[in-house]
Amino acid sequence: MNAHTITPIARVRSPYTQKFGIPRQPQLVPAAWTDIVLEADFPPECVRGLQHFGCIWVQFLFHEAVAEGWSPTVRPPRLGGKTKMGVFATRSPHRPNHLGLSLLTLERIGSENGRVVLHCGGADLLDGTPVFDIKPYLPFVEARAGAAAGFAPAAPPCLPVIWTPQAEPPPEPVRALIEQSLAQDPRPAYHRNPDRLYAARIAGWEIRFYVRNRSVLVESAKLMPAIQ
Ligand code: SAM
Repeated sequence: MNAHTITPIARVRSPYTQKFGIPRQPQLVPAAWTDIVLEADFPPECVRGLQHFGCIWVQFLFHEAVAEGWSPTVRPPRLGGKTKMGVFATRSPHRPNHLGLSLLTLERIGSENGRVVLHCGGADLLDGTPVFDIKPYLPFVEARAGAAAGFAPAAPPCLPVIWTPQAEPPPEPVRALIEQSLAQDPRPAYHRNPDRLYAARIAGWEIRFYVRNRSVLVESAKLMPAIQ
């Protein structure tokens, strides 16, 4: 089988600097601002007309999963982490070429230091994710209402997020981002220990939380010093 070399055309800039805490699909955390910063080789004319589309497909590499390899079957979190499904029947990062595909809301197109920046909302992408392609979403052919949705018919249920008295919520819009991210219950499906204190790092804040009786209890929120 011939191997092909492809080169990233852009990078993701997102508030998620670690995988733990990232929503499992786009739009589940509308507050998750995400920029797609095009490489310098791709001038503004490459996106001429894209501003007339409301959503874009982003094809990318699960770059922090490559070293973890892939497996013919995986255990989707929404099935409790116990049931095995074929990797091509899931959206798992652990797939043969580690390619991902996210449908993002295109909010506006800007530029920074001569580079095109696509400002998007609600992504499920790690900061620094390499992007291989961007395409406009075409509802007339891609919005398939009524298509069978297998074991993923709807968004997973959200958990209420409660700030304990000792936790000082961060200012907006970070507070909404954190609440919406934790409401997705980011814990691995295979271990959900009510006494375990979890730590997630989102938008530069370190959040420590428990999950008890189907509620997220935030124990602390601390702005971490910027990594030099
Ligand atoms: N919407 C995409 C798709 O369907 O291909 C991604 C779905 S996948 C289940 C989303 C998860 O991938 C996130 O919750 C995060 O844990 C992980 N992820 C996101 N960006 C990643 C990256 N660059 N490398 C490795 N894992 C990543």
